[in-house]
Amino acid sequence: MDWREFESTIARFREDIRRAIQDARSESDLQDIRVRCFGRQRGFLREQFKRMADLPPDLRPRAGQLLNELKEWLEREIADRQRRLQETHLEERLKQERIDWTLPGTPYWRGAVHPIQQVRQAIEDIFLEMGYAVVSGPEIETDYYNFGALNFPPDHPARDMWDTLYIHGEWLLRTHTSPVQIRVMQRYRPPIRVIVPGKVYRHDEPDATHAPVFHQIEGLVVDRGIRFSDLRGTLAYFLQRLFGPACKMRFRPSYFPFTEPSAEVDMSCLLCGGRGCGACKQSGWLEVLGAGMVHPNVLREVRIDPEVYSGFAFGLGIERLAMLMFRIPDIRLFLQGDVRFLEQFRVDTWAFRDDVTS
Ligand SMILES: [Zn+2]
Repeated sequence: MDWREFESTIARFREDIRRAIQDARSESDLQDIRVRCFGRQRGFLREQFKRMADLPPDLRPRAGQLLNELKEWLEREIADRQRRLQETHLEERLKQERIDWTLPGTPYWRGAVHPIQQVRQAIEDIFLEMGYAVVSGPEIETDYYNFGALNFPPDHPARDMWDTLYIHGEWLLRTHTSPVQIRVMQRYRPPIRVIVPGKVYRHDEPDATHAPVFHQIEGLVVDRGIRFSDLRGTLAYFLQRLFGPACKMRFRPSYFPFTEPSAEVDMSCLLCGGRGCGACKQSGWLEVLGAGMVHPNVLREVRIDPEVYSGFAFGLGIERLAMLMFRIPDIRLFLQGDVRFLEQFRVDTWAFRDDVTS
């Protein structure tokens, strides 16, 4: 073998392998090329180093230099190609995985305000606008605040242990928010204008309309010259703000120990608008509030002179209102903490009426 043949073999290989490297599309293509060049068995370089023995001795160093240059060139070219393949691969991945800012976000689970709290807040908002203060009182009360100071006679049936949850002795769980009337009047002098939201407790067997714990909102106004017409006007405005201007109201005479005169307050049925339906037992009316003028005995009990001051009070059950507003058939649903029930009451699904002009 002469030098010319040796040199041209290398040049041909170099041209072939240059194309092969250019065409390589994957790491496994490059691996095949490495085997072809550097393989221990039939690698090109190994074979050419062996063939050097066929060359005249004075040409062998030149041949060795040529092969070493080829080896370095091959290593460089293959490494280059490998780097570019990796870059291309990365670019493709980036292209595929590019963030699309126009896609909608991943929805997340949102909680909802409990329907009882929603109704409570709606009611508070209306009275706060009218200048009332929101106050609270203890849920564990004494017989005096829950009954005695509110003019309940000693033998009143509400005091029965079948209606009231007694703790021991004088202590009981308040059966209404009315004891806070006494606490407020003991602490503040008229003019008084407060609402009292809170939990109350009754010795009731739970069923669709009764729960041993539920929520009330109490209202109390005491000042000079407060009249029954003020009570009527206040409640009519309140119901129209909560239920819309079409809501009508009527008073029926009633009896509570701590108000005189007393009234049950009905509103026109939310579901049928007063025509009569199952919810209102065909009457067109729903009972929603108890109300009346503060009894003079109650004012005397807290040393407010009934000859100078007068007042009105009212109370409502929040559960009952919420059941009417949301058409909830069973009061026990409020207490069960079932997310499937509660998540139906997202605040944004229910807008408060804000269209009363009178
Ligand atoms: Zn009805």
